[in-house]
Amino acid sequence: MVNVMWSGGMAGLPVGVHGLESQTDKNRDVRRVAPCIRLTPMNHRHTIAREIAAEGIALHAGTQVRMMLAPAAPEVGIVFRRVDLDGIEIPARYDLVADTNLGTMLERRGATVGVVEHLMAAVAGAGIDDLLVIVDGSEPPILDGDALGYLQLMDKAGTRDQKVPRRFIEVLKPVEVSHREGRAALYPSAAPVYDFEIAFTSAAIGAQRYSFVLTPDAFRREIAPARTFGHVSDLERLKVLDRGHGASLENTLAIDGDRVVNADLMRFPDEFVRHKILDAVGDMALAGAPLLARFEGVRSGHALNNALLRALFADAGNYRYVSGP
Ligand SMILES: [Zn+2]
Repeated sequence: MVNVMWSGGMAGLPVGVHGLESQTDKNRDVRRVAPCIRLTPMNHRHTIAREIAAEGIALHAGTQVRMMLAPAAPEVGIVFRRVDLDGIEIPARYDLVADTNLGTMLERRGATVGVVEHLMAAVAGAGIDDLLVIVDGSEPPILDGDALGYLQLMDKAGTRDQKVPRRFIEVLKPVEVSHREGRAALYPSAAPVYDFEIAFTSAAIGAQRYSFVLTPDAFRREIAPARTFGHVSDLERLKVLDRGHGASLENTLAIDGDRVVNADLMRFPDEFVRHKILDAVGDMALAGAPLLARFEGVRSGHALNNALLRALFADAGNYRYVSGP
């Protein structure tokens, strides 16, 4: 279908050596290493250590997609490349979001890549700053409808320390957006916190609230396994809109009235609000650097999440770039 080498196309790059960790081991004298504390490896940019390929179905298009994650040079950021469209590159940036209905879609020069939020969440959760995402279709494969599948791919690839300081976006003032019953906000915070609240009429979901501090461990344990969900009653509407062709009882928790059709797939009793946090982490990753902020979402979705980032960056007094928390 596409003339591209999907495996072994490039020699694996060496896994980064965490120089400062080994220095700390050698130098037990805390006073000598203290000046380096701000430049711990987590305050360095990271990419993956080698290419890794995956294949699966596109949630909306329903087509089989091949994806390769590849290391990228420092400061490149996260960039999607459509090999089926002459290799056009689409940077994962909030200002390239062109559609937020049923997923976050990026567009550049007429080329789009949709449903990027789960992969972006995994990338942010894993602390990856620079990455090339090569796809031969209009979406990354949905995998299990969570972020865990993407995390496992990055685990297999390993990470590489870019030896370049990571920049953070420190939120300086509250920024809020709202639409009808939905609200999304960012508040100054020394740590990245996510707080989300949902209320559905379906008893299968009801009212749920969840808070968590974004660290690689907490993301992997509490958020990444939470699967996407949808209402069976919406499926016909989706098909009319030419969406949801790849949704299945394997990758989507299906709500039918007051019950979850495939409840055996559930990993948490409050999986729905955790997935909303997963989406928010992915959408906020389009800021282009990790946010030092408290995110609060009440019935928020991709549209409000994107509006929130646009509001943040609309006023230079709302934020500043810093080298570390
Ligand atoms: Zn989602």
